[in-house]
Order: sequence, then structure tokens, then C-alpha cells
Amino acid sequence: MLLTITYTGKNTADLGYLLHKNPYRPQTFELNHGKAYVFYPEVSDERTTVALLLDIDPVDLARGKAGLKSGGLFDYVNDRPYVSSSLMSTAISKVFGTAMTGRADEHQALSDSPLDLTASIAMLPCRSEQNMLNRIFEPLGYQVSYETFVSDERFPGWGESKYVNLTIKGNVRLRDLLKHIYVLIPVFDRQKHYWIGEDEVEKLLRNGRDWLSSHPEKAYIADRYLKHLRPLVNMASSGLATADLDAGGVVLTSEAAEETREKKPNLNARRLESVVAALKDCGVRSIIDIGCGDGGLLNLLIKERQFTRMSGVDVSPAALQRASERLRLDHAGDSLLERVKLFQGSLTYKDSRFEGYDAACVIEVIEHLDILRLAAFERVLFEYAKPAVIVMTTPNQEYNAKYQNLHDGDLRHIDHRFEWTRAEFRKWAAETAKKSGYAVQFSEIGDADETLGAPTQMGVFTRCV
Ligand code: SAH
Repeated sequence: MLLTITYTGKNTADLGYLLHKNPYRPQTFELNHGKAYVFYPEVSDERTTVALLLDIDPVDLARGKAGLKSGGLFDYVNDRPYVSSSLMSTAISKVFGTAMTGRADEHQALSDSPLDLTASIAMLPCRSEQNMLNRIFEPLGYQVSYETFVSDERFPGWGESKYVNLTIKGNVRLRDLLKHIYVLIPVFDRQKHYWIGEDEVEKLLRNGRDWLSSHPEKAYIADRYLKHLRPLVNMASSGLATADLDAGGVVLTSEAAEETREKKPNLNARRLESVVAALKDCGVRSIIDIGCGDGGLLNLLIKERQFTRMSGVDVSPAALQRASERLRLDHAGDSLLERVKLFQGSLTYKDSRFEGYDAACVIEVIEHLDILRLAAFERVLFEYAKPAVIVMTTPNQEYNAKYQNLHDGDLRHIDHRFEWTRAEFRKWAAETAKKSGYAVQFSEIGDADETLGAPTQMGVFTRCV
């Protein structure tokens, strides 16, 4: 696979200083799974092009791949050597790492200036998402063009190839161009990144930080690249990374993306209002919010005097810290500190601290659990803690069809392990209620579609004895 960057203007051979690569000396770099070559196909005052060519060994890739179950023949016969993938990103950071920082010593002024640059990325996997090339690169200031191919001229019925040769052209700083390419290649390549290292997750986030948070397609970009990296994200931080990424200002949920696009009232706010109303209806006084996140629900509950005692529990210390800041517990008087407690815990482990409340709330949390852990959760809450009332919400998977940035089978948030249709949630809830002596009533939250239902579903369980 091949990446070229062309600089047009005056004294363009200075590109060599910015890249820290001599235009007159081709170089070879060893990668984990092959080699990278850097050379300049053209050098003149007006126009200089650098090429980064990768030579990847697919057999070497297959060998010793941590965490990958046998892929059969695919491990050995695949598109990896020929397409622009995360391996290209890894090579960019290895070969042009200094250029990505912007450091250029005596050519610093040039490095800090926008230049007329054109990058061509050969064989970018793109499926049928070619319109996304425009939507992703244009907001970053590029003119976008791409060349498409038929899969095989002898078999027109096979249709168009899923690869494109992409060219982007803009007046940008070199370091920004490199960062954009570095982050965005994996967004288009949908192969899983089993073979890139854990530190790549951190690098992706770091290189996206300056520009991703103001990008109109940030939800799509973040969703895509993190989904492919999920085995690594999970491995690195057992799911806690999600909360920390949220805090970093990247909107990851499809719900949020859709709301921004359609200027809808915020679904999260409507959900929390519905929960508060259900708790009031049941006349409860003490409440435990399990998986409280950054304390959105507690913040509403403390305003209602009838709720005399409440606790927030989360598995993530970072989420608890944000909840504490939101509720201003550091500056709170004794009476609030008596009324509100936060502690770390998990709803899949029996915990005596969950006992003694009138109600438990589990709002948008179960879908974060591995489905195999649901049985443990049922015992912890419905058998041991057994509050008189349990309020639960979870996404209605049927409604995902309405979210533009979700494709077949995609879930709304990168940390979701499953999402249920209304029938699935109702079946699980009815069986769990029956087993443990509760009655359950269902309602929907958010604007309902006639056939798909509303975005959120709620179950209110009341203990029978
Ligand atoms: N209830 C909040 C947050 C929902 S996000 C709201 O509606 O805004 C899901 C939260 O569940 C995250 O804060 C996550 O850290 C937490 N979580 C995930 N698994 C958990 C577990 N096993 N026990 C407790 N909390 C968990």
C-alpha cells in the first residue's frame, strides 16, 4: 500500500526538512510485520512528492497474533498487504513521528504554516460509504476526490470494488495532514485491529484530540475507530476507558449525535424525568442508583425533599469523581453529606451496601454487562438487595433503525454489549419478576415511532410481598 504527499509552491524540497527525511536518500524501516520504504518520486523547486510504501507479510501477521481466534485461511489470504489499513497508520507514526509533533528546528516557521499539500491514499477500504469520504474530510478543509474500480472487468455482476484511491487536497499544516490521515484510515478500514499494539489506542486519541471534538461527524469517527479497537480498549481498561473518553469531550453515543442533528429535546433528560416521576408515583423515600455514571439522576433527586436518603454506585472511579463534582459534595454541608453517599461497587457482586433502600435504579446500565453476567446481576438485586421498587431502563434496539450513523447490527455506544428489542426486554423482565416475586410494568421514553417504538424502554418492578 502506498501513501504519497505532494507539496506545491516554492522551495518545495524543504518538505524533506519537515519530514526529517532526506529527499535524495531512500530509506527502509523495519515494521513488526514487514517493511516501510520512504522515497521521493519527484523533487523540484515547485513540486516535491514523498512516498511511503509498505510491504506487509500476511503470514507474519497471522503468526503470534494475540487474542485472535483462528481465522482459518483468511489469516493467510487476505487484503492486508494491499490496502491502506491501521498498518499504514502505525507506519506513519513510526516513520513520520517527529513530523507529527511539528518539531522542525531551523524550519519551524515553515512547519507552523499551512502549505499546499495533496495526499493520495491508495486502496482505502470504503464499502458503500463513499459519501462519508466527503463528510469526513471536507470539514477539515480538504477538497476530496476518489477513483473507484469495478471488482473484475470480466465479471461486471460482481459490481464495484470496495476500495477507492482517495486524494485529498488542502492548505494545511503538514502535522495536521499526517494526524488526519493517521486517525481516519482506521475509520474506513473495517477490519479488526488485532495486530496493533495497546499504545495505539492512546495514540489515536492523542492525535485526534485537537480537531475531533469540533468535527460534525465526530460521533461516527469515534464510534468507528474505537469499535475496531474494542478488544484493545477492553483489554487496556476493562471498559472504564469509555467513561474517560466521554470526559475527554468526544461524543460517542448515536443518541447524542442524532439529537444534535435533529435538535431534539435531549433523550437523557427525558429519561431521567420519567425515572423521577416513577419513583414519586411509588412513594419511595430512599433510593440507590446503581451505575450512577456522573450523577445526572442523583442531581435531580436531591432537589426533591420527599427523597430523604440516596446513594450512587458505579464501577468506575472516574465516573464517581465526576458525580461528586457535579453534586458539589466537596463544598456540601453536613445535611447533604448525610443524605447523599457515593461509593464504588459492581452490580454483579453481592454487596450488603445495596440493602435497605426502598428503591433501586439501574438506568442504561444492563446493556454494559456481558450477557453471561446477567444472572449474577439478577441475584444481586432481585434476590439479595430486594428493594420494594426497581426501576430499569435500557435502549430499544428496534429504534436503532432511525439513527443515521448506525449500520446493520451496530449498537448505540461502543461499550454496549447487547441491546434488546422490546419483546426481548419484556420477556427477560417478566421471567425475572416472576422468579423473584415482583410485578413489572413497562413504558416507553422518547418520541415513539409507530412500528419501531420509542428509543428507550423502562420497566418498573414492584415487590409483591
Ligand atoms: N445511569 C447513568 C449512567 C449510564 S452509563 C445515566 O443514566 O446517565 C453506564 C454506567 O454503568 C457507567 O457509568 C458505567 O461505569 C457503569 N457500569 C458498567 N458496568 C457496571 C457494573 N458492573 N456495576 C456498576 N456500574 C457499572
